[in-house]
Amino acid sequence: MSGRVVTNIKGCLKTNVLTLLTLAGVFGGVILGIALRPPGSEKWAQRDAMYVGFLGELFLRMLKALILPLIVSSLISAVGNLDLSLSGKIGARAIAYYMVTTVIAVIIGIILVVSIHPGQGNDEGIHKDEASSRDTTTADTLMDLVRNMFPPNLVQAAGFQYQTLLTRPTDEELAAYREKVGNDSAEMPKEMFKISGNYREGSNIIGLVVFAIVFGIVISMMKKQGEILLQFFTAMSEAMMYLTRIVIWLSPVGVCFLIAAKILELESFSVLLGQLGMYFLTVLIGLTVHGFVVLLLLYTLVVRKLPFGFVANIVQPLATAFGTSSSSATLPLTIAALEEKNGVDPRIARFVLPIGATINMDGTALYEAVAAIFIAQVRGVTLGLGQIIAISITATAASIGAAGIPQAGLVTMVMVLDTVGLPAGDVSLILAVDWLLDRFRTTINVLGDSLGAGIVNHLSKRELEKMGAHDGDVIKVENGIEATQM
Ligand code: ASP
Repeated sequence: MSGRVVTNIKGCLKTNVLTLLTLAGVFGGVILGIALRPPGSEKWAQRDAMYVGFLGELFLRMLKALILPLIVSSLISAVGNLDLSLSGKIGARAIAYYMVTTVIAVIIGIILVVSIHPGQGNDEGIHKDEASSRDTTTADTLMDLVRNMFPPNLVQAAGFQYQTLLTRPTDEELAAYREKVGNDSAEMPKEMFKISGNYREGSNIIGLVVFAIVFGIVISMMKKQGEILLQFFTAMSEAMMYLTRIVIWLSPVGVCFLIAAKILELESFSVLLGQLGMYFLTVLIGLTVHGFVVLLLLYTLVVRKLPFGFVANIVQPLATAFGTSSSSATLPLTIAALEEKNGVDPRIARFVLPIGATINMDGTALYEAVAAIFIAQVRGVTLGLGQIIAISITATAASIGAAGIPQAGLVTMVMVLDTVGLPAGDVSLILAVDWLLDRFRTTINVLGDSLGAGIVNHLSKRELEKMGAHDGDVIKVENGIEATQM
């Protein structure tokens, strides 16, 4: 009897060794950080913190190298391997799940921030970093999001995104404007600033996602003629997963040193005790309720199975999301865990997860809504129902527009603030705790993507089985990827 228990425990440890090691990496990172910099002591010099974080930095660089080839090849091969009506159905299910859960997240955030009221109506005690912020309007930010969906140059899209630039008027222009309106202290509205645009650094993932989906659809429509391309991208996506399985072994060490180095270079922890502490707590409660109550309940209701096994199997990507603050960088590990441990069909995982990591960010949506209302509370601005509705809509758009990289939500927040007339520079009010909140919201973003893939997989199971058996073209080969039989 006891022999069997020991064998079971051994078996369990063996299959979950990487998960356990990555969790140990998270806690080890916190302990290492605190041991190297006991509470109350000065922050480390930037260079010394860099040495400590070096291994983590290498891990992150390797993950980042996988993102673009993995997203593009996975999407093309997943969509290309499905027939058109089925990919439409699967896509629609995923988008419906993303929209519903994001809106629920925003509503939870708003209810919490309005009832807890963390911003007391004065900004005393809140450290304000003077960050230089870009002039922008909500319309420009939304239109840039749509523009970026259609990159004019795919090679450029791998490294750059388009952004509209507004130029403030010169003194003469301002004087002419003031004369025209007959008020010598009038400010020119942003809508009248000169418009130009430039490409800033950062991959335009949403543009590549849109292109890859359309390309996959075309290949699937080309049938025989497109087969060679389909095989190429299917093999490419599998090669990326092989690489992922190697890089994955670095995650315990990588996560540990990323977290330790962050603790060493922090300004101070005391901000978590003041007014920002209440804001931090509000977001944290919201994320917990959304991630561990709403999403798990939704999964249980749809799949008709308890979600704990599913979640236990994705602890490794969740811990990596916490360590890296990036859902894009975590994507390879998320796909691997869902396919290999949760048995999600690769045609689903490689289709919906890259889209999810790019546009579905429940944690970010919740935080955007809470943060915008918190800033309004701090500034003593009372918001009417119309403004709160405007915040929910723009927070949803801002979460779709945010890239899956560290603190991207802070950038798109400008749009949410703009809708209620708060200055863009006010994001600096929450800067001090954003690095930590970012880790929690990224974890919930990855959890939302994974549960979504599980739900869509369940809903599409029968159609997928029928398709595999029916058409005989798509077979499952040993390593779990679909391949087209020659
Ligand atoms: N860091 C987040 C992510 O990668 C985005 C954000 O909220 O800043 O999912």
